[in-house]
This record gives sequence, C-alpha cells and structure tokens, in this order.
Amino acid sequence: MLDLKDKKILLTGDRPSGKLHLGHYVGSLKNRVKFQENKNYQQFVFLADLQALTDHAKDPQKIINSVTEVTLDYLSVGLDPSKTVLFIQSQIPELCELNMYFLNLVTISRLQRNPTVKEELKHKSFGESIPAGFLTYPVSQAADITAFKANYVPVGEDQLPLIEQTREIVRSFNNIYGKTLIEPEALLSENDVCKRLPGIDGKNKMSKTLGNAIYISDEPDVIKSKVMSMFTDPDHIKISDPGKIENNAVFIYLDAFCQDQEKLLELKEHYQRGGLGDIKVKQYLNEILQEELRPIRERRKELEKNKDYLYEVLKKGSEIARSVASKTLFEVKDAMGLNYNK
Ligand code: ATP
Ligand code: MG
Repeated sequence: MLDLKDKKILLTGDRPSGKLHLGHYVGSLKNRVKFQENKNYQQFVFLADLQALTDHAKDPQKIINSVTEVTLDYLSVGLDPSKTVLFIQSQIPELCELNMYFLNLVTISRLQRNPTVKEELKHKSFGESIPAGFLTYPVSQAADITAFKANYVPVGEDQLPLIEQTREIVRSFNNIYGKTLIEPEALLSENDVCKRLPGIDGKNKMSKTLGNAIYISDEPDVIKSKVMSMFTDPDHIKISDPGKIENNAVFIYLDAFCQDQEKLLELKEHYQRGGLGDIKVKQYLNEILQEELRPIRERRKELEKNKDYLYEVLKKGSEIARSVASKTLFEVKDAMGLNYNK
C-alpha cells in the first residue's frame, strides 16, 4: 500500500482517443514529469477510457488501441512508473460507484451550461442525440479526482470549468454528508501560451478530434510538413510586408518551445518590421521541434518493442490505484450511512 501520509496528491488523466500531441506536452505532461521528482507529492496519472467511450461507444477498438499509444507517450516523455502511479480508469470500478452518488448532486441544466461541454458539443455530430454519458462526464471526472483526494490537477485551460464542477460537487457532498472529500485546485502551466496551445490551423485549441495536431510521436517529415502548413499572419503577403505576431500560430509555438529568448525577441522584431519571410521562421520552429521530439521518439521506438511491459505497468498501477479509491469509497459510504454491515 502506498504511503500517502503528509503528501499532496496530484492527479490527471487523458482520454485515450488517439496519440498525445504538443498541446498535452506543454499544457500538462511537462508539469507532470517535473512534479514526479518532488517528494512532497504523490502523482496519479490515468487513461480515461470510460470517458473516451462517452463519445466513441461504437468504436471501442480505437480506445483500446489508444491505451497502448498513450502509455507509450507517457513513458517516452519521462513519466516513471516507479514514481507516478499509472492506471486505467475502467479497471477501478469504485470510480463508477462514486459517480452514481455524485450524479444526484448535479442538475441537468448545470451540466448543459458547462462551457467546455458546450464547446465540445459544437464540434461533435450528436445533433439532438447527446449520449447521457457524454453530458455527465464532468461528474465522472469529479469521481476520478475525489477518489484519490487530489489536491492539485495539472491541466490545460479548457479543463477549468470541469475542475470547478468537481469543486461544487465536493462542497455539496461535504455540506450534506459531512466533510469527507477534498476540493481540488487546477494547476496550469506557468507559460501563458501553453495553457491552451492552438492547433496548426491557428484557430481552435490543438485537439485530437479536430485534426489540427502535431503528435509527440510524429515522424520528422510529418512534423516538417505540418509546420510548413501552419497558419501565420494572413496579411503578411510579401516578405517585405510588416507581419503580426499576435494570433500567429508559428510565434505562439516559438513562445512555447524556444529556449533562446534573445534570438526569439530579435525574430519577432524583424518580422514585425518587415523583411522576414514566413518560411524562415517556420524553418527555425521546425528545427526546435525536431530537436525536442527526437529523443522522445527514439525512446518510444524502444518501448514499442515490449508491449508486455506496458501492460505490466498498467496492471500494477491499477492495483495500487484501486486500493486508494476503495478506501475513499468506504469513507464516502460511511458518511452517507450506507455501510450497512459494518
Ligand atoms: P479530445 O479531442 O479527445 O478531447 P484533447 O486533445 O482535448 O482530446 P484530452 O485528453 O481531452 O485531449 O486532454 C488531456 C489533457 O491535456 C487535459 O488536461 C487538457 O486540458 C490538456 N490539453 C489538451 N489539449 C490542450 C492544448 N491544446 N493546450 C494545452 N493543454 C491541452
Ligand atoms: Mg479534450
């Protein structure tokens, strides 16, 4: 059993609905790799397969395959299973049970008002037929977070309304049944542009579902062609024209990835003055991304050779996670008076 005494708990998850992309990398993964080294924290990271099924019910194979892909992404960016507990959401039935109790503490209209859910619905083709599981996934997310008594949740900005929903559920539960659960706080990346990295279309947030992502595991030629196709300043037509760096995805990515602040400032000034072409800036961004992603891709290729190891890691992690979640569930049922045979 994990010793959680005097430790702050961090918890995050990703929907295994595809491989992870640069938005995940700068928005959340880098923070996770940093935090796992801090002895004052215990981190849990999970593959939210139940949540991914809420909009992929007819295509479970995609979710199952993505569990392997996302685990490879985790390990290749440096999540270490001896420090971070990695688990699969569906392997912890206690989370579903908690979800059932929490569903009674939330109204349908509150769920329909959730800005993240509203934004996601715009991009999905559910029409009038929104799966109940999809509409209520913020409640299931509250179960995931509270089951581990998470203090902090390292996430991208799109998740803030969901964390707020969890906090409301916690307050409501504690008010009705007595103080049992912990109100979590979101932990955003310190770098503003990383809180919501746009896609290569420069419009929407980078997302698996929108087809605008550069994946952590993309091959060098794919990275290059995606960078070259990126949205810049539409009014920057001739090289000599002054260009805008605001809302210019290439410069936003440079803000996220470039370590050489002096050179970046120089580039920005040159671009704004005129005389610096998009292709030059894109070539520079491409070099930076290639350098950052090469070692990760190489580690991933090594790990791909041993799939058994991945399942071992997830099985062990899920056992540990289950023991923690079942302790919380016992306390929840105790608070509600449902431990009849105690
Ligand atoms: P989907 O399109 O399936 O919802 P997604 O790309 O939004 O996929 P999620 O699995 O929903 O990815 O998100 C996992 C975590 O990554 C969340 O904490 C989320 O805030 C963060 N994240 C996702 N996209 C970005 C982004 N573009 N910038 C910063 N953080 C992001
Ligand atoms: Mg998402």
